[in-house]
Amino acid sequence: MTALPLVFDAPRRDKPPRHLADLTREEARAAVTELGQPAFRADQLARHFYRGVSDPAQMTDLPAATRAELAGALLPGLLTPVRHQSADGGRTRKTLWRLHDGALVESVLMRYPDRATVCISSQAGCGMACPFCATGQSGLTRNLSAAEIIGQAVAAAAAMADGEIPGGPGRLSNVVFMGMGEPLANYARVRKTLDALVGAAPHGLGLSQRSITVSTVGVVPAIRRLTEEGLNVTLAVSLHAPDDELRDTLVPINTRWKVGEVVAAADAYAERTGRRYSVEYALIRDVNDQPERADRLGRLLAGHRAHVNLIPLNPTPGSPWDASPLPAQREFVARLRAAGVPTTVRDTRGQDIDGACGQLAAADRVEGVPSVAVPVPSVEPPVPLGGEADQDEA
Ligand code: SAH
Repeated sequence: MTALPLVFDAPRRDKPPRHLADLTREEARAAVTELGQPAFRADQLARHFYRGVSDPAQMTDLPAATRAELAGALLPGLLTPVRHQSADGGRTRKTLWRLHDGALVESVLMRYPDRATVCISSQAGCGMACPFCATGQSGLTRNLSAAEIIGQAVAAAAAMADGEIPGGPGRLSNVVFMGMGEPLANYARVRKTLDALVGAAPHGLGLSQRSITVSTVGVVPAIRRLTEEGLNVTLAVSLHAPDDELRDTLVPINTRWKVGEVVAAADAYAERTGRRYSVEYALIRDVNDQPERADRLGRLLAGHRAHVNLIPLNPTPGSPWDASPLPAQREFVARLRAAGVPTTVRDTRGQDIDGACGQLAAADRVEGVPSVAVPVPSVEPPVPLGGEADQDEA
């Protein structure tokens, strides 16, 4: 296994209370047994959790006398909805969640004619400090636990099943790790979340790996680890520049892992899975949208198993940057396609509720705390690799 570097240690806070979704099936069975109940009740609890049932009174397959105790011990409420905001005729819904320690995160559910996708957060805040991203401006508060991440997907699945989103009852089909945080800086919990998302009932949501997208700034050792562990989820790499000079400023972790290394790691993943990865590229007016950069990106990716997803920048408060004008976007697309690189422009949902890519910054707006600018990326100097694996594990 590839050891992950120490740079991602999040500030320690009180751990969330124990939750079934953080435990393996065996651990959950042991926990139930310790409470004096037969082990199979762990499966019953898991079924309720993944179906979004949180009220013990509805867990009628559990003995009435122990429902509350079992649910209290293994299914504590970890995510309290603070508010929902809807856009696109109700088909996009952003939810702000409060965690046990007061930390705030957001998730966004988007319903399309043929699918429903939830964009989930893997950390409260983010330590990657990309200057164009709203979340990146607040710094990292802490890693989410697996149960806190899984809970966002479970809530979305339940909202779909219950018909809370216009269009009638439906099914959650896709999960993207494009909310707050850098998923590969919280590897162990994200890995556990992936198992739960694809796990069969009662211990999972039963999604397919390819309908799950893990988006990363390019944490190279963690991409290698995904490759080694035989995962088949869709990989998205946030490149935003084809050259190190510019990328050093847009994605500060680039000073640690360069464009070439990131592309090589993504190539190896694609080679193993046989599937294309996405290259995310926010088009920022006069910053990274020049025709020469399109050509350079084309040369970098031509012949690779890559697909470019251009995202017109969603401007964030306090940032001097703006989206590229349409003609520049079209030129960029045309040049990439001419180089033989499949390219699409993302249709950004939820802009008017600040629910689009890079706009999630819950803490600032809700608590009324002024946004604290973080001029220096919270990325520490390189730490030698080769230490213990799972440095991101608390
Ligand atoms: N940490 C992960 C997930 C971030 S959000 C990552 O970096 O990939 C998902 C995508 O939105 C990333 O590609 C991110 O760079 C992009 N993004 C962030 N802020 C944005 C903004 N203001 N406009 C458009 N895209 C943005």
